[in-house]
Amino acid sequence: MAALVRSLWLLAAAAAACQPFAVTQAPPAPGTARFVVVLDAAHGGDDLGAKLGNQPEKDMTLALSVKLRSLLMARGIAVVTTRESDVNVDTDRRAEIANRTRAAACLNLHEAPASANNGPAVHLFLSSLPAAKDVRPAPWRTAQSAWIERSTALAGVLNAALTQAGVTVTLGRTPLAAIDSMTCSAVAVEIAPERPAEAEDAADNSGFETKVMEALAAALVEWRSDGGQFGEQQP
Ligand SMILES: [Zn+2]
Repeated sequence: MAALVRSLWLLAAAAAACQPFAVTQAPPAPGTARFVVVLDAAHGGDDLGAKLGNQPEKDMTLALSVKLRSLLMARGIAVVTTRESDVNVDTDRRAEIANRTRAAACLNLHEAPASANNGPAVHLFLSSLPAAKDVRPAPWRTAQSAWIERSTALAGVLNAALTQAGVTVTLGRTPLAAIDSMTCSAVAVEIAPERPAEAEDAADNSGFETKVMEALAAALVEWRSDGGQFGEQQP
């Protein structure tokens, strides 16, 4: 059975490689809740994002998505990504992918531009929409309102894991087009490595990024273990 599941998964992964986004998950076993994480690599295609030395942010976010996906899959967590290559994906499409997935967690990934004299940190952002209860059907653009409470809980779990790994975390709320239409526990994660402007191209931040990705993976394992919080149904 395990071999069958694995070959089905490989087939799905191969098929997904030809599509603008990829679904890389094993079919759920009967009677078990699905736990799927959506990784939304921000920017892409014409949308370069911030300029990070010689590299546009869009390349960094894709690399982060690939790295985090492999860490999550190694922990038995199914992942759906909003893009697998350097393509335009508009915010409506990103939300459509997330909402169709009925994900347990949605992470919108960014990398911050040079910020001289700031130590390495991770900025976690929630949508600034006001929390609303029992909005059915969830209206587009403000759908995240009904999920703010759970998104806040997810941000708390991410914050705890990052802090435990020795990473400085800031928490904020901001208008987030990519997340406002999402019906899942959703947090924007902006990685801000130490990148002094004058040495931006030379800086090697891979150690910090790996530490952050591992902490995020540990947090999502924790989120999965707390089944009451991530429930896929609208609160
Ligand atoms: Zn960005």
